[in-house]
Amino acid sequence: MDVNKIRAQFPILERKVKGKDLIYLDNTATSQTPLRVIEAIQHMYTTTKANVHRGVSSISQEATDLQEATRRRVAQWLNASSEQEIVFTRGTTEAINLVASSLSDSFENGDEIILTTMEHHANIVPWQLIGRRKRITLRVVPINQRGELDLDIYRSLFTERTRLVAVCHVSNVLGTVNPVKEMIAIAHANGIPVLVDGAQAVPHIKVDVKDLDADFYAFSAHKMYGPTGVGVLYGKKRYLEMMPPYQGGGEMIANVSFEHTTFAELPFKFEAGTPDFVGIAALSKALDFIDEVGYEAIAAHEHKLLSYTTERMMQIPGMRIFGTSPDKSAVISFLIGNEHHYDIGMLLDTQGIAVRTGHHCAQPLMHALGIEGTVRASFAVYNTIEEADKFVATLERVASMLG
Ligand code: PMP
Repeated sequence: MDVNKIRAQFPILERKVKGKDLIYLDNTATSQTPLRVIEAIQHMYTTTKANVHRGVSSISQEATDLQEATRRRVAQWLNASSEQEIVFTRGTTEAINLVASSLSDSFENGDEIILTTMEHHANIVPWQLIGRRKRITLRVVPINQRGELDLDIYRSLFTERTRLVAVCHVSNVLGTVNPVKEMIAIAHANGIPVLVDGAQAVPHIKVDVKDLDADFYAFSAHKMYGPTGVGVLYGKKRYLEMMPPYQGGGEMIANVSFEHTTFAELPFKFEAGTPDFVGIAALSKALDFIDEVGYEAIAAHEHKLLSYTTERMMQIPGMRIFGTSPDKSAVISFLIGNEHHYDIGMLLDTQGIAVRTGHHCAQPLMHALGIEGTVRASFAVYNTIEEADKFVATLERVASMLG
């Protein structure tokens, strides 16, 4: 893999921040976008912007074809059984809210959902919102010192009231790659479906929903070199069919009268209103990019960056890294001594180095770790060893400055 050839496809990497070369290490929050995705958006706005599924016009048909071709592409890419199992959403958050809102129609007071300590708020709060209608108990799988889930406790959390397991494939803070295939098998042995939050997995790991046997799988395009405003919910047809619509509006209906409305077929039943059809069409270019580089090459490169940077960071006095599982994606959450994460992040920014600081939308995990927040550096396929060197050298200066 030639990282320079890859970097050349990302125009933003040429920009300066505070007079320095941008070193973008906030890929977990959002990744950068290759030119082909930007060009696809521009092309559609300049040639093919007409509302999907509505028009008799040629350009409306072309726009619809582009959107639906992406749906087929995503279905193949995930190894779904049919494109009817692919629902486009605004992102992972909306995908999880959709399942929480619709699936919970069949829940009853006292039912239970199993989550984990390392969930993003997007996979906690939607389940709590059900509580406005029904009393639902969240049961939480704890983590060990390395930031891995305790599967023995997981097994013990199933009761006759369990209705769903909702778990992230990869933690956005610890980087831990969870054994979701095994967790799904355990849930299925108990007769329980599983929703996987794949937001941090799809940029790094080849996902095969059939192999995992996931019942729902959610992710966002913007974290995988794609456009903002687009997400995917994969759902097994038998669940999507029995779930009521999430929102009402255009596209999701078969017939409307003031007395009674019937709903459209899958997946349109869940796609009320005009979708971000430009973003959806451009998502297929992000998939092209990933396929062209290849997951094996992406993983090899990111793992090299992860182990090299971790090793160098560990030489810095007072360095505390959170998440040390051997099965870890290229995310490094850390603190130096008792220094505030924000101060470290600000000092890195003065050198053009973009990281994230704070609780990373995972406050329950922060409580479990006994901290308020961390600094998080996260890598993508376009990052280099030279950037890692500059990052660590700056951290060394920051550490000695902060004493
Ligand atoms: N889940 C995880 C694990 C995430 O990292 C994120 C984004 N930080 C989300 C869900 C939410 O994604 P989005 O904001 O794109 O909906």
